[in-house]
Amino acid sequence: MKTKFEYIINLFNNTYTFGAVSPDITYGEAPHGRIHINQGSTRCFEYNQPVDIETLNVIWKPWLGENIPFFFDSDNTELFTEEEGNWTIRFDIVASSFFLLSGWQEYFSDNRDKYGRFQYSESVQHRFDFTRLPLVNYYFDILRTVVEKAYACNITPILQTTQNAFNVCLTHDIDTCETAWLEGSYSAIKKMNFLTPVNLVAKKLFKTDAWFNFSEILSLEKSFGATSTFFFIPTNQPSGGIKNADYNLKDPKFNAVFKMITDHGCESGLHGSAGSSTMADRLKSESKSFPEPVTSNRFHFLLYDPKITPKILEHAGFNIDSSLGFAEHFGFRNSFCLPFQPFNIPENRSVSFYEIPLSIMDGTFSQYLHLSPDQSFDEILSLILEVKKFGGVLTVLWHNTHFSPHKYPGWKELYIKLLSYCHQEHASMQSCSQILNRLQHG
Ligand SMILES: [Zn+2]
Repeated sequence: MKTKFEYIINLFNNTYTFGAVSPDITYGEAPHGRIHINQGSTRCFEYNQPVDIETLNVIWKPWLGENIPFFFDSDNTELFTEEEGNWTIRFDIVASSFFLLSGWQEYFSDNRDKYGRFQYSESVQHRFDFTRLPLVNYYFDILRTVVEKAYACNITPILQTTQNAFNVCLTHDIDTCETAWLEGSYSAIKKMNFLTPVNLVAKKLFKTDAWFNFSEILSLEKSFGATSTFFFIPTNQPSGGIKNADYNLKDPKFNAVFKMITDHGCESGLHGSAGSSTMADRLKSESKSFPEPVTSNRFHFLLYDPKITPKILEHAGFNIDSSLGFAEHFGFRNSFCLPFQPFNIPENRSVSFYEIPLSIMDGTFSQYLHLSPDQSFDEILSLILEVKKFGGVLTVLWHNTHFSPHKYPGWKELYIKLLSYCHQEHASMQSCSQILNRLQHG
């Protein structure tokens, strides 16, 4: 458990700015330091065994206005106690944090949907209904509180500044940008709106496709002082029954798009194609499809195999991945709202790249949950409140198709409402690489 404890403490140390304080924190069998965390009953993490979420004995405790679960303890005692200047956290927040951050449940589960994805319905987040709470940030906040008491100091979230209360990472997956005229027309015909297809075909013939709207998205974000990451798929060949791009990234017209993105201070990244999340050479060759090197990736369909994908991302040399969100539900798949280095379970080490966990996606609301834009905004607000508590990052995925009224009316307006609200609430709104840069270099 030593390596796993160090992994959690390293992340804790990278979550806050400590100033001159260097807290002495011990765990389990180790001699009691100034702050000690008791080890709970589970030995699953030492012996590489699955955690059975059906038989978990969960204890709920209030913290920051929410009831939060602790997974591996049996005593319903106080959260922490003090004796002669030594502090003890009586719940195993190390094991609970490690369980969630490491994706332990996904690694040891064979249940997958038809595309090979771990399903939200199989998750501990679904089982105990805490997907909208970044639980690990709550555990870290308990430890932060104890550090502040033990050392009479103030420590602050690393990405929280006097100007920025919290952070929004803006991203766009470009799956389709050539076929608004086709898909939009089909959608309009279904709704008996016969003028729309004529307009869209005319637009395709005489100008650009309604979904080739990079300039519109960039201008909109610029008006809020925001930047974003655009993820592109380098292949239009389907794989495993999944459509990839509807465009050819090698078309010279994309050079102007890449330049426009760079000129706006934004980022181009790889949208790893269906198939690339399990094939090292494919991901590596796709990463070389851009005029300038790219350092950020998100997999198409959020495909991510916890047994294979982390090594493939390392092999391809990425600094950032942003695939870890549930397609079926908004919230926190690893129960954490800051970038973190995932854990390689078989090799018992953290990986070299950072995950910027995905929190909300347009399609989750529109296609999986069938919510209207107004209903979706209420859910988004509840997540923003959570992220604000910890000076965290809300990672937003808005497809370029959702900026056009063809097929997805109302979603561009919701995006504008989200940006207006976050701007007014003093959030920084940046691309993946800019967020990571701030985390690493201040
Ligand atoms: Zn995609």
